[in-house]
Amino acid sequence: MEVFRSKPSVRAQLAAWRPAPIVLVPTMGFLHEGHLSLMRLARARAGDAGRVVASIFVNPTQFGPGEDFDSYPRNEARDFDLLRAEGVDAVFAPEASEIYDPQAQTIVETTELAKVLIGKLRPGHFRGVATIVTKLFNIIRPDAAVFGEKDYQQLAVIRTMVRDLDMDIDIIGAPIQREADGLAMSSRNVRLSPADRAAAPVLSRALDEAAAMAPTGITASRLRSHVRARLEAEPRARVQSVDIRDAATLETVSGPLTRPAVILLAVSFGQVFLIDNRVVHPTPEEP
Ligand code: AMP
Repeated sequence: MEVFRSKPSVRAQLAAWRPAPIVLVPTMGFLHEGHLSLMRLARARAGDAGRVVASIFVNPTQFGPGEDFDSYPRNEARDFDLLRAEGVDAVFAPEASEIYDPQAQTIVETTELAKVLIGKLRPGHFRGVATIVTKLFNIIRPDAAVFGEKDYQQLAVIRTMVRDLDMDIDIIGAPIQREADGLAMSSRNVRLSPADRAAAPVLSRALDEAAAMAPTGITASRLRSHVRARLEAEPRARVQSVDIRDAATLETVSGPLTRPAVILLAVSFGQVFLIDNRVVHPTPEEP
């Protein structure tokens, strides 16, 4: 597995590999099984002849003032071992100074999607995400890229950006990987105190209950209230937002559910910001 720190060096390697298909998996590192499931999807998409490229970059521009950029967990040596074991062909792990020119003045923003949901809680976050993903796409020029459904709105932002800017890249969504007790895997989970870690599965439990209630003809607002009450019953949880949106468009929904909807949660435990989501269906799900 090759490790690249500079744009010219990774570009030279990719030029040598093309026309083999290139599949990119962008990450912020401190990898867990959720990330590794993306690497496996990337390998399946690339095929035997193709190449899988992972990037590891804790992108400063998607963190707001007072957010956890400095305390975001990092362990590059361990990440490289995990990626090597997955058969990843190359890792692009640049310093911020390699990525951002101090004179830069161009940004990419999905103007509507960036303002709502997480975008409201973290102003500027999705501008940072869309801009870094565009830059990674331009540096790596992948045929396909894999993103987790754990960051549901992020995936929607990227699909929208790719559509709007005619980026010729196949975007692949990957299902959420969870711990045995249901907690969605996240690099931030290691920062939870033992008591908060024990309380955090309330998110997935609330989502499971909502999925079970969705086919009963319940209205979106009642379902939302139920989920919020369930989360608020956990004294350690600080509920930041509970939203129910159309699963395909992220538009607001009201009245009884008629189409698949996604329930999006943002909940803090101490200083740790967690998100989770689940698509629920108005008709009973197949077992
Ligand atoms: P991050 O390192 O948190 O920026 O995540 C890198 C990629 O991994 C993103 O596309 C995430 O959506 C995805 N990801 C993170 N956690 C999970 C998970 N538990 N299950 C599936 N994908 C995930």
